Amino acid sequence: MLMKISEFFKNLPRKKCAECGKEIEEQHECYGNKCNDCLGITYHH
Ligand SMILES: [Zn+2]
Repeated sequence: MLMKISEFFKNLPRKKCAECGKEIEEQHECYGNKCNDCLGITYHH
């Protein structure tokens, strides 16, 4: 079954950074799964 994207995200647990495990508040589409701190350190696409 198809789900609406908004509902999909609503049902997700908070994203956690794959690097340090810190919770990620922002959910920008292209953030991947790293927090701002880790993105700042290893910034690549
Ligand atoms: Zn992190």
